[in-house]
Amino acid sequence: MNYLPVFLRIRNAPCLVVGGGTVALRKIELLLSAGASVTVVSESQNHRILSLVQQQKITHLKREFSSDLIKGMHLVVAATDDRTVNQQVSETAMAQAIPVNVVDQPELSNFIVPSIVDRSPVIIAIGTGGTSPILARLLKSRLETLIPAAYGRLARLAGGFRQQVKAKFDSINERRHFWEHVLQGPIAELVFCGRDDEARDALERLIEKPDHSPAARGEVYLVGAGPGDPDLLTFRALRLMQQADVVLYDRLVTREIVDLVRRDAERIYVGKARAKHAVPQTDINRLLVELAHQGKRVLRLKGGDPFIFGRGGEEIADLVLENIPFQVIPGITAASGCAAYAGIPLTHRDYAQSCVFVTGHLKDGQLDLNWSALCQPGQTVVVYMSLTGLETLCSKMIKHGADGDLPAALIQQGTTRNQKVITGTLSTLPGTVSSSDIKPPTLLVIGHVVSLRSGLAWYNPDDYRRDTDTETNLHAKSDFSR
Ligand code: SAH
Repeated sequence: MNYLPVFLRIRNAPCLVVGGGTVALRKIELLLSAGASVTVVSESQNHRILSLVQQQKITHLKREFSSDLIKGMHLVVAATDDRTVNQQVSETAMAQAIPVNVVDQPELSNFIVPSIVDRSPVIIAIGTGGTSPILARLLKSRLETLIPAAYGRLARLAGGFRQQVKAKFDSINERRHFWEHVLQGPIAELVFCGRDDEARDALERLIEKPDHSPAARGEVYLVGAGPGDPDLLTFRALRLMQQADVVLYDRLVTREIVDLVRRDAERIYVGKARAKHAVPQTDINRLLVELAHQGKRVLRLKGGDPFIFGRGGEEIADLVLENIPFQVIPGITAASGCAAYAGIPLTHRDYAQSCVFVTGHLKDGQLDLNWSALCQPGQTVVVYMSLTGLETLCSKMIKHGADGDLPAALIQQGTTRNQKVITGTLSTLPGTVSSSDIKPPTLLVIGHVVSLRSGLAWYNPDDYRRDTDTETNLHAKSDFSR
């Protein structure tokens, strides 16, 4: 280790920044965010530095640097583009054993400023020993995605109970187990859900009676996995997938997404194929309750969004009755995902001022929809579960007054490598689809917005497919060309 990472307390401490440009400004802002009392010395200054002076947040000395300015400083940063000045600042500070950083010149610095992930009071500092600040920044952005924004609140909660826990448990081991349990369990989840008061109560109870852990009750996460592309998962979905003990997933959740679940979590497939219910809905509802009663963190992973044609409401109704804690994590619904990846804006000021989502699922071979509402002008209609009823749906719409030339698109396995899009009109689409090899799941989009696709299609999975699948689809091929 070439450097020792430490966190310096510089609140109200005098710190000096030499330089008045944008680089200096960034360092000034950083020092201010840690509460330092900042003096800046420069002959000219950036307008934002000037504004900090006017707001009396910093002191500015409009003059050349001279060595006497260093005396009494707790920390010094040189951010000028004059090497001689930087060198002079560095030598003077080092001679007085004052920490000094010369921006982009590690050889003149005795400390370097890390990349920072700020979840105050939790702070993660990343350094590369001055070798590659960009690499540090890349690492920072990865960490930003993994660490919930609420970690700061969780740390404050833990901090408030630290002494109490110390008094309760004598051994370090016991304390460690206690905190691991709190910081990874249902109490932490309460904080992440913004229910800090409940978290505080639960923590107090747990300190009183450590055996009565709320974990014994288990909990359920109802998580939307999006339409297929794993990149479309939310940060929260991914975090919960990596901490669940058991995962129940359905047919619409792609293998790549299931692969992101914690390796040793139990996986239960409860998928439904049309007309073939692998696990009946009531059994799924009951299974969620049973697994939670066993004290497990149960993740119910559903395609798209759990509250859009996802029976999410039914699945949590039993949890409410049983008083089992749960969270609902939204996902990108097929309509948004497929439309975006097919280059079809669902609304557009010139073409559609509203958008409706309906299900085209046939009941006893019939489609029971509000046809006059669906045929309104200036509207986009998105039909989920539309493949079997496609013909019926298009002809009914025409019969109820829709123009047979109204553009329509059927999107197969949107956002995945198997995405295919067939475009046509209400009159032509059913015929084109029936002579294609299109496979479910498919989403139907009807409306003038579909015509925009010719200029906006950007996602072309043909290139990936060529490597893995030699079969080509004529309709899809012509459709992908702009
Ligand atoms: N809760 C889900 C919808 C479940 S209903 C959501 O919010 O997306 C199942 C229907 O969703 C399928 O029949 C199909 O119409 C649609 N669907 C889901 N994923 C899709 C995908 N990747 N491509 C096309 N349609 C999809």
